[in-house]
Amino acid sequence: MAAGSFRSRELDHASDVPAIDPPVRNAYGAAMTWRLLLPVLALLCGGIAVRGETGTSFAAFLDGLRADAQRQGIAATTFAEAFAGLTPDPNVLAARRHAPEYGKPFGPYIASLASASRIGVGVRKSAQWNATLRAVEQKYGVDSSILLSIWGVESSFGESESRWDVFRSLATLAAARFQHPLFRDELLAALQILQQGRIPRRAFLGSYAGAMGQPQFLPSSYLKYAVDFDGDGAADIWNSVPDVLASIANYLRQSGWQPKLQWGFEVTVPRSFDYRASRGTFVQWTARGLRRADGATLPAVGNAILFFPSGATGPAFLVTDNFVVLKKFNNSDAYALAVAALADRLRGLPAFRGRWPADDFQLTRSTRIALQHRLAALGYKIADFDGHFDFDLRDAVRDQQRRYGMIPDGYPGRTFLDRVGVQVRTP
Ligand code: CA
Repeated sequence: MAAGSFRSRELDHASDVPAIDPPVRNAYGAAMTWRLLLPVLALLCGGIAVRGETGTSFAAFLDGLRADAQRQGIAATTFAEAFAGLTPDPNVLAARRHAPEYGKPFGPYIASLASASRIGVGVRKSAQWNATLRAVEQKYGVDSSILLSIWGVESSFGESESRWDVFRSLATLAAARFQHPLFRDELLAALQILQQGRIPRRAFLGSYAGAMGQPQFLPSSYLKYAVDFDGDGAADIWNSVPDVLASIANYLRQSGWQPKLQWGFEVTVPRSFDYRASRGTFVQWTARGLRRADGATLPAVGNAILFFPSGATGPAFLVTDNFVVLKKFNNSDAYALAVAALADRLRGLPAFRGRWPADDFQLTRSTRIALQHRLAALGYKIADFDGHFDFDLRDAVRDQQRRYGMIPDGYPGRTFLDRVGVQVRTP
């Protein structure tokens, strides 16, 4: 699952690598009362957030929400329609509990998303929807291979069904105060969609975490970015492929996507390279000896950031501002690079050539947060203490690596984390 808006739609897959399994099917198991559920919740949350909730009930949660909804102009009838007969769903909490705490390292993660079978299906979809893709590309300026890739990564081109009731899932997670206030805010956004009459109540289907339809948009993303492209009057991201593709394109365009700009390129780095450099124009990178890994020529104009996802011994990439835009769809370097890799394959480019280090690993979210606090304590300016890495943070790592006499590749590997005093937990 993954979803349009964990914008940071960090659905805290405790690592920021989105889960790649098909959505957990909703078994709608035996009804479990909220009272029975509370001890489970307390366990799940380590007793932190839920403590304040244990004395209250789901009904009390809804009462509080109702008051906020009213202030935002939601009619009582809309609220009643959304929550009529609704109970918390223990299966949502179980799915949340089973979400993997550790993501795969970059190499295996990219290999699993840009798999031969997904490339094969993508090529067929590309032919099947060629006219639509051209029209969407024309209107929004986003390359069709990127649109196909996100569609493929988010829902296997619509093959992964949205089955969970969005109001029920979001209410269950919000009442349990998971990632508060994200799910509560999304619930209010879902109420806005219902009130606007954009989707009938029964059509609110998504992942267990409320990510809706084929592009896996959270309700707030649906409000901002979903569009009707097939002209039937409804932005149907569940059933209309033109609407799905145009909504993804609209999302990216409104997030700053620049037409005709590649996401970036895999590159080779010369032996004598000065690793302190991390930013420059393509012309400067070419002068410093970087070359495209596939032998083609780097662009003559534009800027790029040098990115070593797994350190200097692994593959190297020059990425552009459009790579950063991909992270607005899902705030994860691994996600953006996997989308980029699949898009490249769908337009006939070869797979990445660099070898991923065998001992590579994905930092847990808590390790990433610990690193952010540690770097802040060392005097670096850190934009985000939620565990999302941006290229400024990687530059801070570079600077600190240089002080330690390490290769400044911006990769917080085990040696660096140990040196900087952040404990690494690995599976
Ligand atoms: Ca439509």
